[in-house]
Amino acid sequence: MRVNVQKLVSSLIDVSATDPDDKRRRKLLSILLLGIAASTFLMLLVLVVLVLAGNNLEIDGAVWIGATALLFGCSAFYWSNRNPAIPGWVTSGVFLLFLMVLFMFGDTPEQLAGGRSLFVFTIPIIMASILLFPAASFIFAGFSAFEIWYLAVQAGTLYNTFAAIGFFLVGLASWLSARNMEQALREVRTINKELDQRVADRTRELSEALTRESEQASQRQAILQGIADGVMVMDTRGMVILTNPALIRLLELPLDKILNKNLAEVVRSPKVEPEDQEMILRSVGYNQATLAPIRVKWGVRTLSVISAPVRDQKGRAIGNVAVMRDFTREAEVEQMKNAFVAMVSHELRTPLNAILGYSEMLRDGFYGAVNEKQANAAERILNNSSRLLNIVSDLLDQARIEAGKLKFDYKPFHVSDLTDNLHSVMDKIARDKGLELTSRIDANMPGQLVGDTHRLQQVLVNLVNNAVKFTDKGSVDVYIYKVNEQHWGFDVTDTGQGIALDDQKHIFDPFRQLEGTVTRSHGGIGLGLAIVKRLVELMGGQIFLKSIVGQGSTFTIILPFELPRKEEKEGEK
Ligand code: ADP
Repeated sequence: MRVNVQKLVSSLIDVSATDPDDKRRRKLLSILLLGIAASTFLMLLVLVVLVLAGNNLEIDGAVWIGATALLFGCSAFYWSNRNPAIPGWVTSGVFLLFLMVLFMFGDTPEQLAGGRSLFVFTIPIIMASILLFPAASFIFAGFSAFEIWYLAVQAGTLYNTFAAIGFFLVGLASWLSARNMEQALREVRTINKELDQRVADRTRELSEALTRESEQASQRQAILQGIADGVMVMDTRGMVILTNPALIRLLELPLDKILNKNLAEVVRSPKVEPEDQEMILRSVGYNQATLAPIRVKWGVRTLSVISAPVRDQKGRAIGNVAVMRDFTREAEVEQMKNAFVAMVSHELRTPLNAILGYSEMLRDGFYGAVNEKQANAAERILNNSSRLLNIVSDLLDQARIEAGKLKFDYKPFHVSDLTDNLHSVMDKIARDKGLELTSRIDANMPGQLVGDTHRLQQVLVNLVNNAVKFTDKGSVDVYIYKVNEQHWGFDVTDTGQGIALDDQKHIFDPFRQLEGTVTRSHGGIGLGLAIVKRLVELMGGQIFLKSIVGQGSTFTIILPFELPRKEEKEGEK
């Protein structure tokens, strides 16, 4: 009901106009006209009731006529005001003039020109500034001043100059306030317009972003669905929040056993060995990328698992993503390859050792006297077989390192064993080339350390062997020393051809030999340094190289320093 009244009222006062100022003024005029009409109508009603009730009222006929005329006048103005074809200022202007004329009959000319009814002439002045335009108040102040002059003349009284000045002051005040009000309205309108624009822009942007996002989301979903590798996204608590069909296939688990489950729950499956479970939790559960994929057995499959943190735009880790690939086939091939290499190397080593042994015995006259030519031939067989054996050993080591199968045997050893073994292997070879091979153990070294002697000897002999190979005159020196409380190490220094800076970068790559006929003529397949580096790294150490072409090279090995515990100590020599 209330809504209907409101609707009715607003439909009565609303006018259609494009200019907001015009619309506001017309609306005001409508309200005024309706107000006047309503109060006139009420007054008439009261009078009628009083008359009908038998009150002895002497009502002038002019009152009836005037009131009725006023009602008609208001209706006419109201209609004209709502008519868009008639400019708003015309209706308002005529209405105000009509009011002024009407006021002339409201009282006696004396009272109007200078008495109690003087104030009525301020009404059109104020209204003009609101209904027409701010400065119109001055025009109507002029009209009012003129009107009281006319009335004064009519009444034969003195012209009220103060009243006229007063009208202009009222005009000034009206002008100022109307102008301020209009300015404020204009500002509000501009602000509103800007706000509207901003809201419209934001709404558009938002809707565009939402569309874009939903497109991207469905694209991402499609990619995730189509990807052949299993994908699993965890939040910071390790809860799986996203996955794809490939993962379900790989893990052979139903979706509800993966999604919204903690990683630990997913992994805890009888299909996975406890060590593999641990490995997955350790590498995938961390807020950091796994450096290299890990391999785990999951039922009959081998999975290669790699993970990386998921970050938001500010770089904060908000979870982890793990990608699992079916590695079963590759793992089988890899295993076959390693087994093959290991088998072949082993099978080659036995006959090669036999060849070595027999040719040595031949050369040394074990099977009867040999002439020089025969001894020479036996020597060649010996040398070449020995080279072949070295190559086979290198291949075997490389295969083991790649398969991660190289095992170390750490136990206490005498440091002097290293140099003793070195001299027994290398002295003759160095002497044959006319080189001096020296070794020195620093006084700060303990007698015993913990390490894998076999591998340490392999590293040392390999470096010295290279040094001898690539040095034509001078010496090869080995120096073993304690670096600090945590490290010990050794230098292998030669006075050979040296290695150019550019070559130093590649020298530790597998199967890499430096160009040049000299190198080629030295045999080897470029695995020596690669194996040395890997062995040293696997023992927790590092290798460094300093070399100047034409002057020689120094290879430095630094290893963790570990003393044997008392009960472990091997008998002192
Ligand atoms: P290889 O088994 O063929 O000798 P390495 O990995 O041991 O392979 O060495 C790779 C290459 O590095 C060699 O071919 C040689 O050119 C160079 N090199 C290694 N040690 C030295 C050295 N002490 N002086 C000069 N060059 C060297």
